Amino acid sequence: MITVAKWGPIQSGDQGRRCFNGNGESLLKLEPLEPVLVLSSHLDDAVLSCGHFLYANPLTTVVTVLAGAPDTNHEGYNSKTTGKPYAPDAISVRRDEDRQALDYLSATPVWLDLLDADYAAYRPSTNYVEVIQGEIARVLNKARPKSVFAPLGLIHADHLAVSEACIGLAVNSPFTWYLYMDLPYGFADRRLLLRRGATVPQHVQLVEFNLYGGEPGIKRRAMSLYASQYAPTRQSSPKGFDATMRGGERYWRVETLR
Ligand SMILES: [Zn+2]
Repeated sequence: MITVAKWGPIQSGDQGRRCFNGNGESLLKLEPLEPVLVLSSHLDDAVLSCGHFLYANPLTTVVTVLAGAPDTNHEGYNSKTTGKPYAPDAISVRRDEDRQALDYLSATPVWLDLLDADYAAYRPSTNYVEVIQGEIARVLNKARPKSVFAPLGLIHADHLAVSEACIGLAVNSPFTWYLYMDLPYGFADRRLLLRRGATVPQHVQLVEFNLYGGEPGIKRRAMSLYASQYAPTRQSSPKGFDATMRGGERYWRVETLR
């Protein structure tokens, strides 16, 4: 059973502090300790889901986990959106876009060479969540951030895989872990959150923070720098995409229950 708490206790030394919304409800304000590292499943997810947070927290490192390419021509999502049939060329286009968008937000990109679902046929036959987990652990041990942000893991199998790998690492971790709502997926159906919450391990509690917003023009501008992704992402869910540009970022702190 997973507990998705609307709000929870503030642990000593935690950076969250209580604030109140218009209804007098007490929520936590997101103020993570620096340095901050954000894990992104694909080359654009951190900006879609956390663009306003990144803008307000410059010098964040954004590690895109599934940013690799097999050494082959491949017909699929990446070639279709970039116009590059050779996989390394397609991913090179997408990395360039990521660099531009993160430059705009004063964040630093790091790209891991793991493969996204488009290239699933070229993955090793071993459990890929374990491969992802091993690579993320290696990066964190080197970077030693204080705060790590990971996707909640909605809808897309890649997002779920990265999220599962991260929740496994978050238990009894030396770093403070947070989950962010995958956008625009989180706008598709509110029941998704409950369903995903119900799969979180029993000894993990998610403590919710106040909704995180920002200037809509900032996120739209950052997203527009993903030239190959802007139109297809918006086309797949225009309402959700526009809501994502306006804000609606949601975050939870991961707590291990003893
Ligand atoms: Zn994605």
